[in-house]
Formats: sequence, structure tokens, C-alpha cells
Amino acid sequence: MVADIGHFIANKRVAGTSGRAGDVTNPATGETTARVAFASIEEVRRAVEIARRAQTGWAATPPLRRQRAMFTLKGLIERHIDDIARLLTLEHGKTFDDAKGEIGRGLEVVEFACGIAHHMRGDFTEQVAADMDSWSIRQPLGVVAGITPFNFPIMIPCWMGAMAVACGNAFILKPSEKDPSAPMLLAELFAEAGVPEGIFQVVNGDKVAVDALLDHPDVPAISFVGSTTIGEAVYHRGTQRNKRVQALCGAKNHMVIMPDADLDQATDALIGAGYGAAGERCMAISVAVAVGDVGDRLMAKLAPRVAALKVGPGLDPQSEMGPLVTRQHRDKVMGYVDRGVAEGAKLVVDGRGLKLQGYENGNFMGGCLFDHVTPDMTIYKDEIFGPVLSVVRAGGFDEALKLVNDHAYGNGTAIFTRDGDAARSFANGVRIGMIGVNVPIPVPVAYHSFGGWKASIFGDHGIYGMEGVRFYTRLKTVTARWPTGIRAGAEFNFRTRT
Ligand code: NAD
Repeated sequence: MVADIGHFIANKRVAGTSGRAGDVTNPATGETTARVAFASIEEVRRAVEIARRAQTGWAATPPLRRQRAMFTLKGLIERHIDDIARLLTLEHGKTFDDAKGEIGRGLEVVEFACGIAHHMRGDFTEQVAADMDSWSIRQPLGVVAGITPFNFPIMIPCWMGAMAVACGNAFILKPSEKDPSAPMLLAELFAEAGVPEGIFQVVNGDKVAVDALLDHPDVPAISFVGSTTIGEAVYHRGTQRNKRVQALCGAKNHMVIMPDADLDQATDALIGAGYGAAGERCMAISVAVAVGDVGDRLMAKLAPRVAALKVGPGLDPQSEMGPLVTRQHRDKVMGYVDRGVAEGAKLVVDGRGLKLQGYENGNFMGGCLFDHVTPDMTIYKDEIFGPVLSVVRAGGFDEALKLVNDHAYGNGTAIFTRDGDAARSFANGVRIGMIGVNVPIPVPVAYHSFGGWKASIFGDHGIYGMEGVRFYTRLKTVTARWPTGIRAGAEFNFRTRT
């Protein structure tokens, strides 16, 4: 049965009225499981109006009460973890255990938001001048919006939504149209947690809904996570309208393997970080830089592991890697593999021909492994976002570091080595936002913030943690005196107060 998914407005599911909708499919079977409504400009405006009215009261609610709602939300997400994970697997395709991992990383940010009273507290200075005090506070922005990608349908809405709401804003989520069911369930859990009507809403849709949010004068801030092309356009459109915009975008994450690295550890790391979630992670490793003489030894360990990957539907506990999100995306990834071969890279493991009995209409492909990839090749330059790992050979540390630094993207990177000097020089000199030392996917915990450099981000703020508090609030500073006694008269010169 094909379900209809509308929007979540004023703490209720409502049907879409635009007459436009898109198909939601199960990536493992290719079946259409739902039709998701695409909001019109009018529907977005209505959601903003409801949010605007609700936000004043929510901002005035003591932060302690707002954080109590986050505590309740945390318990509800934990209680529903299997239901949410199932929805993620059925619409995204990732394995059930990986889906639970995603929810766990979202929960960490909800936990951080449980301390919002502490994180938002201001600074007070007594006696900035004679009998004069000054204090700084952070206040919420109003109605803010989040536009999220298909690959983390619950974690990224938690990164944005928990922080924005705990800070006292009303939040409107425009999730990916490919897997909207988990974000809709999340919205229900916000409501059940006691978050008032209009404070966490979902408008489903496409570019029309995104542009309506970007153009709306009552939405002063937009968070975006997704591809670089769309993120850059969102950033420009939003900032042109004088909004605060953070757009976290695509990636091409390199893992540097030094000759002294433990190769069994490095191989395990590359398998998990390259092929987990079928490579559909912004922190996936898609390039392995083999330094010095390590290349042949690494390939000897890596190739059989890639060929032996267990690919299957995400709900099968035996599966290590599920299907890609859509048929169109799988074909795009396979097209990159064709291009890599045509441009002269050596395809050591070819997953293009994989067929799974009983799942012929699923978007499956096996893991692919390229050797002798060079920086001029398309498969090196572009983000492929699939289970395709490129091995590049580098003569020494400096050449490896230069490769990472010269790449257009700057999200994450890792170095595998036993040499502290090499690791320190790498972490210090690399132009990338998140660095792992013997850690392949260095996603920061919630109380450190997440964010790349270069073409992986537009805007000045990382996401969640204190960066999230700064993004979703604005600073106000009060200077006060309660004069008693003789009037000093008007003061015409600008001077230090002391
Ligand atoms: P996408 O850019 O296609 O879509 C992201 C969001 O933008 C979705 O909600 C989508 O509906 C909307 N959108 C699509 N086209 C639009 C348009 N023309 N105008 C306005 N909005 C539009 O990205 P995706 O395919 O869903 O996600 C994968 C991408 O996200 C990858 O590039 C990945 O690296 C990136 N990503 C980055 C991070 C990070 O933190 N840096 C995290 C996760 C994913």
C-alpha cells in the first residue's frame, strides 16, 4: 500500500494541498512505498506564520523548561529507536545497525541540548565604570529553518532541530524528499515531549519549499546540509537577503597511510569508512593515499576484503552494505566507475555486475576499488558518494599532505601512522575541518562542533555544540547604571568609562 505523507504543522500531520508530490521508494526492492507532498509557497508561508506566533512564548519559556523537553525527547527517541531505525533502513537502505548508530549520533546532540540553560548563560561584569555594570546575553533569532540531505534523515534534523528549539527558536525542517518518514516521526516525538505547537514543524518538498524559506522575510537563519552545488546556491540566495546561512556540503575525504602504519588496522578502517552506508556519508573515506612503499602491501590486503563485502538488504543482519538510495543515484555512481576505467585508473575490484536473487529491482552494486588513480581524473576530483574507493600513490609525506591540501573539498581526513611527529605535522598543516589520527571517520562528539573547510562549507559557523548555540542566537550587551546623587551634566566626549 502506498502511504501519503503530508507535512507536520502545529503538532499535527496534515495533508499537502499543492497537488504536487514525489515517490518514496524502498531502495532494496525498488517498490514505491509512499507519496510525499511537495509544499507550495503558500503552505510554507502558513507554517512560518504559525511558527512566528508560537516563538515569542517559547523564547520566554525559561531555558530550564526548554531543556526538560529535550530530556523527555531523549527518552522518547531511545524508546522508539527500533521504529526509527526501521524507517531509515526502509527508505535510505543503510543496514539496521548502522541506522541505530545514526540515531545514537543524533541523540548526542539532544543530550547536549539538555544542558542549554548552562550553554546559553550570559557573562556579567561588575563595575565596568564607577557604579556601572555590563552583561552579555544570547537571545534566540526567531523562526529558523533547516534543509537536510537524504543520507542522515534523523541525525542531521537532530543536529539542527534540537539546538535551534532548545535555544528558544521555532524550527521548520525541510527534509530530503527521498526519505521523509523518519523526520516526520521525529516531529511527533518533539510534540510528545511537550514542545508547543508551531515550534518544530516539517514542510516536505523540493526547491519550491526551499526557496520559499530562503525568501521569507520572517526567517532570519537557514541551516543547510547537502551537496556543494545546492549548498552554494542556498548560501548565496539566503545571504543576498541578509540572512545568516550555514551550508555544510560535499566532501572527498582522504586517508593517508604512512609506511609504518599498522596495515591490518588501516585496512579495517578503509573497509568500514569507504563502504559503510554504501559510501553515502559526507565523512566516508573515498581516497586512500598510500605513501612510499605501502601501496602494494595495502592493495594485497584491501582487494580481497572489498571483493568479499556482504551486500544485501539493510534489514538482513548479515548485510554489511545495503543498496544505494535510488536507481538514478546508483546509475550515476556506476557511470563514475566507467569513467575511471576510461580515464586509465586500474579497476582492481569491479562491483558493477552484482545481482542479488530476489532483489533484482533493488539499487545494489558491489564495492569497487581503483588503484593508480591520479589527481587529474574525474573519479579523483568529484564526490562520487558511493562504494568506490580510489587508491593514489604518493612518494612521501609532503606529497601526501599536498594532495589533501590541493583538493577542492575540505571536510574530513585521517592519517594512519605510528609516528607522532608525522601525525602532529599532518594535523597542524592540513587545510581540512576534521582530522583523525588513526581514526578514519573523525566526526566530533556533540560538545565539539562539526564543520569542514573549503568547498565543504559556506558560512562561518560549524554545526551543533557551542557553534550551534552561536548560530541560533544573537548577542545582546546591556550596560547599566542606577545613578543616585548629583547630576554630572551632559557628556560630549567619547571616552573610556573608567
Ligand atoms: P542535495 O544537495 O541533493 O539535497 C539536500 C537538500 O536540498 C534536500 O533537502 C533537497 O530536497 C534540497 N534540494 C535539492 N535540490 C535543490 C535545489 N535545486 N534548490 C534548493 N534545494 C534543493 O544532497 P543529497 O543528495 O540529499 O545529500 C548528499 C550530499 O550531502 C553529499 O554531497 C554529501 O556530502 C552532503 N552531506 C554533507 C554533510 C556535511 O555535514 N558536510 C553531511 C551529510 C551529507
